[in-house]
Amino acid sequence: MELTSKIPDGPIEKKWDQHRFDMKLVNPANKRKYHVLVVGSGLAGASAAATLGELGYNVSCFCYQDSPRRAHSIAAQGGINAAKNYKNDGDSVFRLFYDTVKGGDFRAREANVYRLAEVSVKIIDQCVAQGVPFAREYGGLLDNRSFGGAQVSRTFYARGQTGQQLLLGAYSALERQIGLGQVKMFPRHEMLELVVVEGRARGIVVRDMVTGAIESFPGDAVLLCTGGYGNVFFLATYAKGCNTTAIWRAYKKGAAFANPCYTQIHPTCIPVSGDYQSKLTLMSESLRNDGRIWVPKKKGDTRPPDQIPEDERDYYLERKYPSFGNLAPRDIASRAAKQACDDGRGVGPGGLGVYLDFADAIKRLGRQKIAEKYGNLLEMYERITAEDPYKVPMRIFPASHYTMGGLWVDYNLMSTIPGLHVLGEANFSDHGANRLGASALMQGLADGYFVIPYTIGHYLASTKQTPVAVDHPEFKASEAAVTARTEKLLGVRGKRTPTSFHRELGKIMWEHCGMARNKRGLETALQKIPALREEFWKGVGVTGTGADLNQTLENAGRVADFLELGELMCRDALEREESCGGHFREEYQTEDGEALRNDDKFSHVAAWEYAGDGKKPVRHVEPLTFENVHLQQRSYK
Ligand SMILES: Cc1cc2nc3c(=O)[nH]c(=O)nc-3n(C[C@H](O)[C@H](O)[C@H](O)COP(=O)(O)OP(=O)(O)OC[C@H]3O[C@@H](n4cnc5c(N)ncnc54)[C@H](O)[C@@H]3O)c2cc1C
Repeated sequence: MELTSKIPDGPIEKKWDQHRFDMKLVNPANKRKYHVLVVGSGLAGASAAATLGELGYNVSCFCYQDSPRRAHSIAAQGGINAAKNYKNDGDSVFRLFYDTVKGGDFRAREANVYRLAEVSVKIIDQCVAQGVPFAREYGGLLDNRSFGGAQVSRTFYARGQTGQQLLLGAYSALERQIGLGQVKMFPRHEMLELVVVEGRARGIVVRDMVTGAIESFPGDAVLLCTGGYGNVFFLATYAKGCNTTAIWRAYKKGAAFANPCYTQIHPTCIPVSGDYQSKLTLMSESLRNDGRIWVPKKKGDTRPPDQIPEDERDYYLERKYPSFGNLAPRDIASRAAKQACDDGRGVGPGGLGVYLDFADAIKRLGRQKIAEKYGNLLEMYERITAEDPYKVPMRIFPASHYTMGGLWVDYNLMSTIPGLHVLGEANFSDHGANRLGASALMQGLADGYFVIPYTIGHYLASTKQTPVAVDHPEFKASEAAVTARTEKLLGVRGKRTPTSFHRELGKIMWEHCGMARNKRGLETALQKIPALREEFWKGVGVTGTGADLNQTLENAGRVADFLELGELMCRDALEREESCGGHFREEYQTEDGEALRNDDKFSHVAAWEYAGDGKKPVRHVEPLTFENVHLQQRSYK
């Protein structure tokens, strides 16, 4: 397997412009001869499908929800970054690029990140033109707030519902193309196989989730925009349906999986409240603009927060990272919360929580102003915890939130399978070992609106393909594999629910491959996961049939894939003998407990090649070079 990144030559600020000129074009009259399959209708998928439709390609778009409007992107709260420098506070394309490379702990490709920063400014214009109601200042200009890992305000937002508003924009553009007949939408269709013909991605096999029918769709290229895999931890801030199936099946067909161990644990989520719980809720990072994080200085202090005097509180982020304070990046803020709790200074039941306190901000700005900025988030918190965050500090704790790893893609967003492109959270491309807040929406929309429309044309124009039909043996074989797997799941007839296996896997992953990892723990997980997987295939109980709507069957298929992915994540974490970003190996830390990279040995992307069931996957390496940002120990002090 070759990992050729296809990064264009030339100075970093000219690469994308020159590449756009150098790439081949498909002339307008020829675009209608091509059929592109887009799997996913979140921000990445909807923006790609709408734009490709607008350009004149025939597009089929698939999602498992009943409407594209329900993609997980709708949950995004806090905002989207762009280097507009509206605040005149020193921002620039280069600074966004720099912050992102540094934020990712120098484990991302410079060229990709620079392009992301460059197109960020266009995204805002595009969304404003679509009518996205970004917050505005008194004078009518778009407002900005700050997110972690930046000392400028570059985050555009629509209250705490930025994802929803952006998705409505992309969805409207998509619906327009659906209305024009340029995009055909297939909701409630789950992709279960990628079809590769003569080494190229030529189609997918889906299950109609309402009728159970297994159907094939051929095309000239396939785009996977299927989101992240953080639900491998079971408890996570993701929508419950988010899963790894699409990218996992593509991995098993030859797409390299890059940096699977890079997962993001977000510092500000509502703490777990019991074993019955099936999901966690994020409290947006934007709250750290005004909320202050603290724990009692004394261990085991159970006094209510209002009885703990100011000088007995430890505002630990402000103390440890005075330059960035409460807006330290997520990996660092999460680890600091864990350290405080491990130290016996956590608050709330079980001591697994820290305070996020608005008292000072309310005193300074007034309740009304805080409600205007964060009202819906604070209301959500109150509904879930029955505590009023205007009166008592919120309690928060880190939780699984995002995956920086994903399918390996080159500069053109193409995987190691020619024709298979991967966009948004599903790829590994831009965030290195830690994603900065408000950069996921930016990346998904950059990929969909501004990158793939160029690179797909280049691929199609430079590739000679003969038409394929669904009676091709590769389609028949893929359909047979899907049917066999469905029958296998239904045939086990065991006693345990898929969810109970998922919960058990999540506990293993959280304990051994979560916020902190070590060799022994990872080796233990690598024993436990295959054993659990074996138990799954002997003991899972899937009720109902495959011939109609069957959510237990859907869930079982996804859990089966998580049970394989979890093992790859641990393997990747074990091999990476350094700490970087969200990947914190306890053996590799500085004296003051910060991540200690090993640039000599690990300044690379690790991309895994599937070698067959029961065989050890093959680890490939794409070296990372830094010519515009100097490698340094990351510091937010
Ligand atoms: C609570 C929360 C808040 C967040 N807030 C922010 C924020 O403020 N700013 C920010 O930048 N980021 C934020 N993020 C991260 C961001 O929302 C996501 O990374 C981003 O929306 C992912 O978009 P996507 O298009 O890649 O995938 P998704 O939105 O997850 O969409 C995936 C799509 O793929 C489809 N799909 C998946 N598998 C299949 C399959 N097998 N067959 C058919 N269809 C399939 C789904 O139906 C869906 O349409 C937040 C995340 C969470 C969890």
